[in-house]
Amino acid sequence: MIKLINISKRYGEGAAAVHAVKNVDLEVAAGQIMGVIGESGAGKSTLIRCVNLLERPTEGSVIVAGQDLTRLGNGELPRARRNIGMIFQHFNLLSSRTVFANVALPLELAGMDKAAIKHRVNELLELVGLSHRAKAYPSELSGGQKQRVAIARALAPQPKVLLCDEATSALDPQTTQSILTLLKDINKKLGLTILLITHEMQVVKSICDRVAIISNGELIEQGEVAWFFANA
Ligand code: ADP
Ligand code: ADP
Repeated sequence: MIKLINISKRYGEGAAAVHAVKNVDLEVAAGQIMGVIGESGAGKSTLIRCVNLLERPTEGSVIVAGQDLTRLGNGELPRARRNIGMIFQHFNLLSSRTVFANVALPLELAGMDKAAIKHRVNELLELVGLSHRAKAYPSELSGGQKQRVAIARALAPQPKVLLCDEATSALDPQTTQSILTLLKDINKKLGLTILLITHEMQVVKSICDRVAIISNGELIEQGEVAWFFANA
């Protein structure tokens, strides 16, 4: 479902250039949950942002759902990106919009009609367990609730892939576990493929099928999570 072929990303030019990601090859099969773990500055965020071309890789190809995104122009990218949802550490909700309106936004942008939006948003809020908070504003929610809204919004365009950028790093351990359980449920129920980055081994242990370790921009090891911990 996701195939990164020899991806490199450099920021800047010449002597000041930072080689954030170096010759990374990574495959995530349909329906799998893959974790990339590494220390701060290892290149995790750059790598995951290359998957939906929030960062354009300096070299290599990014293939998602059979489509080579690196060959698409800026005009064709938005449509291809509907296959790829993303959630962030700090949720990135719009504070001026209610929970309902945050989740509705991508559907409005896609031109869906009002009645269909209402139906779809209610369905999504039920999926993440937040139907009772539809009219609340983000400032009235806990961190875990905010991330649930962000998950509902990311799923609204029916993506095949969900990217999670340190999605539980701002949450306490108990809330982290409830968000990870939700992601696993969604993975099972919808067959969604998930790629996440984290600096916490516990996140990988809880929900990932496979894990890759990134250090200094390079993937230094990868394998099945069960194998990994059996040999740790
Ligand atoms: P991680 O997510 O693992 O903390 P990042 O991908 O954020 O790692 O960063 C990898 C390296 O790239 C670091 O050395 C960081 O300082 C550098 N970097 C990240 N973003 C930029 C940027 N926009 N411009 C220049 N350097 C950057
Ligand atoms: P971090 O994980 O380092 O705390 P975030 O992942 O929250 O940071 O945000 C990283 C960047 O992604 C921000 O600079 C922001 O401008 C951008 N961003 C936030 N939301 C979206 C979005 N929905 N689509 C595209 N880019 C976004």
